[in-house]
Amino acid sequence: MDEFSLIDRFFKSILSTRQDVVLGIGDDAACLHVPAGQQLLVSSDTLVDGVHFLSSWDPYDIASKAVRVNLSDIAAMGGEPAWITLALTLPTLDAVWLSRFAQGLNDTLTLFNVALVGGDTTRGPLSMTLTIHGLVDRGAAITRSGAKPGDALYVTGPLGAAACALTPDAMPESCRHTLLHALHHPMPRVDLAPLLRRHAAAAIDISDGLLADLAHLCVASGVGACVSLQAIPLHPSVLMFNPRKALDFALHGGDDYQLCVAVSPAQEKEWLASLAAMGAQAYRIGVCDALPGVRAEGLGVLSVRGYNHFGASDDDVAIT
Ligand code: ADP
Ligand code: MG
Repeated sequence: MDEFSLIDRFFKSILSTRQDVVLGIGDDAACLHVPAGQQLLVSSDTLVDGVHFLSSWDPYDIASKAVRVNLSDIAAMGGEPAWITLALTLPTLDAVWLSRFAQGLNDTLTLFNVALVGGDTTRGPLSMTLTIHGLVDRGAAITRSGAKPGDALYVTGPLGAAACALTPDAMPESCRHTLLHALHHPMPRVDLAPLLRRHAAAAIDISDGLLADLAHLCVASGVGACVSLQAIPLHPSVLMFNPRKALDFALHGGDDYQLCVAVSPAQEKEWLASLAAMGAQAYRIGVCDALPGVRAEGLGVLSVRGYNHFGASDDDVAIT
């Protein structure tokens, strides 16, 4: 099997029913139809063996996770995911591995109605870069920069499960199963995109840890934030297995892919009513203000320890 038969066998066979794919896999570029009045959202995420996943994982789970983390960025912008490309680097041509990977890709893309429209296949250390394309009505994208002092801050679901799953501590089998599921198959909140467009002032997805991502939203918006630690939603399985570290995982662990949303006082009632109408929940964790930094009620400024590839704990890497 060479590169081209590999593409045909594993990736070209992933079909979608989307009518807006004029030309998918097989030519020099995909040709896609962007409806009049809509704008294109584009975002890439790279997953590297040993950093974002382990090669010991089931390839089905690796593919599922890779798609879901990309979808989360479109959800945070209030967009509808449409198309994805996959740049895949493989150390060997392993048909069993590829078949499992393609199955995970196919199932996840089908679940979210996203078409695989192209990519690149190369040989090297295992890694993949997916580029997701989403659609949003002109001018309707939600950004990180729209929060104002006085806006309420919400988190759209319990945090800390993915970080907890990565701890080496022994845990009961039922707990391990739930936590690993959260790590491998995070649920991108694309379901909330219409609500974000109607009610959110700003939003960000929580990929690097709540504090790190909230800090990004604050810097982009030119605001500070005061949060109540008691109000931060902790994942029930983490609370059961490791209650002592649950808050730490929620604040500083990454990979949760819930959203942190700023909602103006004028929109708050409707935001909550819209959530209730769809049977969804969000947790009010604090409020934006005009002071610097992210603070906890009664505790002062919280230091950010979210995941940072070139953070201070790495060997003095200077990025200029
Ligand atoms: P080119 O040499 O013109 O860049 P390639 O030979 O790399 O094209 O790819 C052939 C076709 O297969 C293209 O349409 C490309 O988008 C698609 N493709 C290559 N690798 C992948 C992949 N891993 N997943 C999906 N599509 C792929
Ligand atoms: Mg070409």
